[in-house]
Amino acid sequence: MTTIADNLQRLRDEIHSLEHRCGRPAGSVTLIAVSKTQPAAAIRAAHEAGVRHVGENYVQEALDKQAQLDLPDLTWHFIGPIQSNKTRQIANHFQWVHSIDRLKVAQRLNDQRDPALPPLNVCIQVNVSGEASKSGVDPAATADLCGAVAQLPNLRLRGLMAIPAPESDPNRQRQVFDALAALQAELRTTLPGLDTLSMGMSQDYPAAIAAGATLIRIGTAVFGSRAG
Ligand SMILES: *Cc1c(COP(=O)(O)O)cnc(C)c1O
Repeated sequence: MTTIADNLQRLRDEIHSLEHRCGRPAGSVTLIAVSKTQPAAAIRAAHEAGVRHVGENYVQEALDKQAQLDLPDLTWHFIGPIQSNKTRQIANHFQWVHSIDRLKVAQRLNDQRDPALPPLNVCIQVNVSGEASKSGVDPAATADLCGAVAQLPNLRLRGLMAIPAPESDPNRQRQVFDALAALQAELRTTLPGLDTLSMGMSQDYPAAIAAGATLIRIGTAVFGSRAG
């Protein structure tokens, strides 16, 4: 039986060799262990194996696990759809939010973030695959949204995030990630502080790393398959 520690060792080796093969500095890719539906004990095991970034999709589930864990060196990333009535909890119980796709939500997070805390790190979620069913801002509207979010004092705009439609062909995976990277490069001409590309999951992270991902969000390949 493979353990969470085994999975992480294998992933780290793979990430390091991909960084090398792609001519990227060692350590330029950070793994976020996506722990939705997994118990607090699984996060503890991942932490013992060196994980310092976790991603969660559901606010209450994440808060329950945070209450069970006393791991101050963990960084919590909110990566799920954002409901307006959950923004206060998201604003104050996470260090990162990846899934902002409209200004109203960004304004609420900004207004509700405790000003005594450091600014909340945020990414704008872009609908790169152009599917009506997926959330994310239209690529053509991304620059305006980024410009507005960058003005909000309690948020720190870090970059872009995408959840492309599932695609098994690595070349086609790569095209979508390249498109997000190109959009970010364009934005950096006016927003030079952008340093983050949150892209790549268990099935497509090698293509994402090749395209310049700095944060990869890995669930299944760390924790095994999700029940239900
Ligand atoms: C579930 C999820 C992941 C992880 O997916 P895996 O395929 O299990 O690696 C990454 N990002 C988001 C936004 C998710 O919801």
